[in-house]
Amino acid sequence: MKLILLGAAGSGKGTMAKKISEDFKVPQISTGDMFREIAKQGGDLGEKVAKLMSSGSLVPNEITFEVLKERLKKDDCKNGFILDGFPRSLIQAQMLRELTDIDAVISIELPFSELEKRLVNRRICASCGDIDNVSYDGYTGACRKCGKKLFQRDDDKPEAIKTRLEVYKKDVTPLINFYGDKVMTVSSSGSPDETYAPVKTFLTKLEAKA
Ligand SMILES: [Zn+2]
Repeated sequence: MKLILLGAAGSGKGTMAKKISEDFKVPQISTGDMFREIAKQGGDLGEKVAKLMSSGSLVPNEITFEVLKERLKKDDCKNGFILDGFPRSLIQAQMLRELTDIDAVISIELPFSELEKRLVNRRICASCGDIDNVSYDGYTGACRKCGKKLFQRDDDKPEAIKTRLEVYKKDVTPLINFYGDKVMTVSSSGSPDETYAPVKTFLTKLEAKA
């Protein structure tokens, strides 16, 4: 089962990917993880990616595509995969089409007001990266893992969230159009389990058809 997962930051995309990966035995492939892995391995491509990453530059499409192509050849992808963070543009979607056919695209939607509510309450630990939420039970302002003080990222302030969501919508609309009836849209305003339930039903049917 070859899937693409779309969703803005804070939409619960990571949680969804994990659930799909466990239930349908396909790896979650995020471009960020992929770049870090290949940079560690070295070689021509690895060194190029490492250089780009350390300079903070965006990795060009051609290189992203090369890295992805190598990644999809690995054994764990023989039953399929979930792509997270790729494609981000129409050009990338067209490149991906040269490589493989996608069975379905899951697009997680969350209204701005709900996303804002989630993100403005989000706090992060600068020391270990753990994420907490002011509205969760037992929140104290200290990291639950290491005890350090939690802080709010500038990215999670309302103005930044609004801008980010607008950018996301602008980027994702052409992709939704490109994949047409392969797209399943799900609203994530409920709990993670409520959000996942219709996706699981959809993918179970898809798997039975294959
Ligand atoms: Zn911590």
